Amino acid sequence: MDTVLQDGCVITGDGTTMFARADVLISGGQILGIDPSCTLHRRSDGSADIIDALGCTITPGIINAHAHGCICGPSMPSGSAPLDDSAVDYNRNRHLLQGTTTLLNVCGLAFPDEIDRGPATVHPMDIHVSTAHTLSNIQAALAVDGAGLSTRHIQATIDQMLSQGAKALGEVGGGQTLGGGAQEYRFIPEAVEREIGLRIDPAVARRLKNAVLGRYLNPGDGVSDEELRVELENCGLAGKVQAEQIRTIVTNSVMPSVSQALAGFEEIARQSARVGYPAIFHNAAPTASRLIELTEKHSAARIVAGHSNHPSFLPDEAVAVAGKLRERGAVVDVSTLDCISTRWRNDPANFDALIESGLVDTISTDYAGGRWDGILEAIHRVVRKKQLSAPAALALATGNVARIFPQLAGDRGLIEKGKRADLVIADSANLGRVRDVFIAGRPIVRNGRIL
Ligand SMILES: [Zn+2]
Repeated sequence: MDTVLQDGCVITGDGTTMFARADVLISGGQILGIDPSCTLHRRSDGSADIIDALGCTITPGIINAHAHGCICGPSMPSGSAPLDDSAVDYNRNRHLLQGTTTLLNVCGLAFPDEIDRGPATVHPMDIHVSTAHTLSNIQAALAVDGAGLSTRHIQATIDQMLSQGAKALGEVGGGQTLGGGAQEYRFIPEAVEREIGLRIDPAVARRLKNAVLGRYLNPGDGVSDEELRVELENCGLAGKVQAEQIRTIVTNSVMPSVSQALAGFEEIARQSARVGYPAIFHNAAPTASRLIELTEKHSAARIVAGHSNHPSFLPDEAVAVAGKLRERGAVVDVSTLDCISTRWRNDPANFDALIESGLVDTISTDYAGGRWDGILEAIHRVVRKKQLSAPAALALATGNVARIFPQLAGDRGLIEKGKRADLVIADSANLGRVRDVFIAGRPIVRNGRIL
């Protein structure tokens, strides 16, 4: 054996199994076994590295199946220009330090060969991409942005992407193309600035968007000009922009990509049923009814309802939608967004309601404008609030994800003989505090620092 993680509380990731004190034995990059007697390794030749985990909890590495901003190709479902290398590095390192060992970047339009800039930039975290290459999804991207797309991206197909190593389908739709977060923190503020030379903040953009289009993105649901004038006054914009003008700016920013993105839902559901890969969908108030429809129409599709705690839902509505989706065989994912500790734009009401409903299958981060909170922070919250036991909570980001995304993570996600030795050692009193991370048996993070 090469390495022994000694005397930790061990949570295996299967949803129920936990050892108050045990050793985890690693050999050749894989888990050799769990030793609750904490004695086995003393009988070996003594050459193994011994890592003391007393007072800590040993878990499988986190598998995050809905993230953005961690690849060097076109970013977001809007096919926007790639992020700067330094932003990509920062995002990757943050995920790693939060205990993520496998990450699926679901921007959806980049090739697997665009994960890294070159061999020198390969990150120790195992990073993969998904594919949303269908006609309507590409048209939706081009309608809102598309600055990162070349002919190669526009002509790519799902089959080509899967043969080159994409691990799932999606993300179908996004905050950019479906009037969600990215419209609030990027596209609407940019459009307002172009038109009236004033930068509004994301909270104001959300209020104006809801006033003009309602939560379901239906221009017919907008408030009257009189009410819109009051809202402009409340937002400190009285006299700076007319009601009529803000209605046009918001509508022109949000709506052009919406119908195409919704058409993309149908195309990806059909493709998922055909190829048997899981498909991640943007689940939010404007898309929920379409998604429920698709679970009935394409029962063989493997539908993952991404970020089912999306802030466009009211808490009861998020639970009702998740219930309908799950009844019809879909996977219910929730994202940390900035809900857990950052609370930049979002709060945990929908997250808590869904966890307490028992409907959640997986936890991911999504992006939240780069302000996402760590998955282990969210798990710590769930355990401390006694919403779930620690083994049940941990499974949402380990064993469950591996089962639902076999092409991505079938060989990991559990502390079990023969699985890849992706492991986290975290503070037992606060699982959000990651001390060490091992990937394929190699130490990558030690005492909170990347080696
Ligand atoms: Zn999304």
